[in-house]
Amino acid sequence: MEKRITGRTGMFCLIGTPVGHSGSPAMYNYSFAQTGLDHAYLAYDVPLEKTEEAVNALKVLGCKGFNVTMPCKTKVAELVDELSDAAKLIGACNTVVIKDGKLYGNNTDGMGFVRNLRENGVDVKGKRMTVMGAGGAATAIQVQSALDGAAKISIFNRKDEFYANAERTMAKIKEMLPECEVNVYPLEDTEKLHAEIADSDILVNATKVGMKPLDDQSLVEDTSVFRPDLIVADAVYNPKETKFVQSAKAAGCKVAVGGIGMLLWQGAAAFHLFTGKDMPTDEVYELFFK
Ligand code: NAD
Repeated sequence: MEKRITGRTGMFCLIGTPVGHSGSPAMYNYSFAQTGLDHAYLAYDVPLEKTEEAVNALKVLGCKGFNVTMPCKTKVAELVDELSDAAKLIGACNTVVIKDGKLYGNNTDGMGFVRNLRENGVDVKGKRMTVMGAGGAATAIQVQSALDGAAKISIFNRKDEFYANAERTMAKIKEMLPECEVNVYPLEDTEKLHAEIADSDILVNATKVGMKPLDDQSLVEDTSVFRPDLIVADAVYNPKETKFVQSAKAAGCKVAVGGIGMLLWQGAAAFHLFTGKDMPTDEVYELFFK
């Protein structure tokens, strides 16, 4: 690395907190080297109240782009000059490109989800979807699926502090993309959940259920809903194969994918926004995600 850094090396980074555990520096630095780019990527621990100062500093220092993690994603969306449609609808940015002193905010989480499905032979266009969850991952998935032409999205969330978020997402999608039918239901209504799954092509878990320490749980206990042509996808990637995905596979679902592909492809989408080049995803997956 030290041999690669020059006086002209372009700077990219991650901001948020905590960032010490992040795999992003390894993934991007490897990809810069593999694609012959004189760029370097670092992670900076930035608390919410320092977000604006950090963003201004990055501008002054000529940073070319940065990723944003919790808790700074919403604040950064307020600070940029322009937002992509997805970032506008989600109300949060995870990728910012800096060009000629202007900040362009994007959100690649949903792009990663859609691309991961495409890599598994599934196009969300025209599909009816049931998505469990109303937090950051779920909102990104719902918004990008609507932008990419999903016909219907049924959102289920438990009646917690995220429920109002689902209602806000529904209102925003209805306003910007009225051709996509969106409804919100309480997750506690199992009968409705089963009815919507029966009427869906794609079923998604984008809650924290299934993630450690909830890895012994799945929000779908009655596995008879898993018919072979139901496409099942999880946002959770820790563990790589959740109980939800395992039970869908065991019940015969032909496509049942975990969240690791979404994570890989959201990074690849950010890399493309940063550099205009394709990330060497096969090698990145082998080295950092396996
Ligand atoms: P969040 O905190 O923003 O949202 C949490 C969601 O989980 C809410 O909908 C909440 O209601 C629900 N929830 C939490 N505990 C629950 C329970 N016991 N029963 C039912 N619902 C429950 O979190 P997030 O950032 O949206 O992350 C959700 C999951 O998605 C995490 O596992 C995260 O690691 C994963 N994720 C994956 C990617 C990826 O690229 N694959 C990207 C972002 C997040």
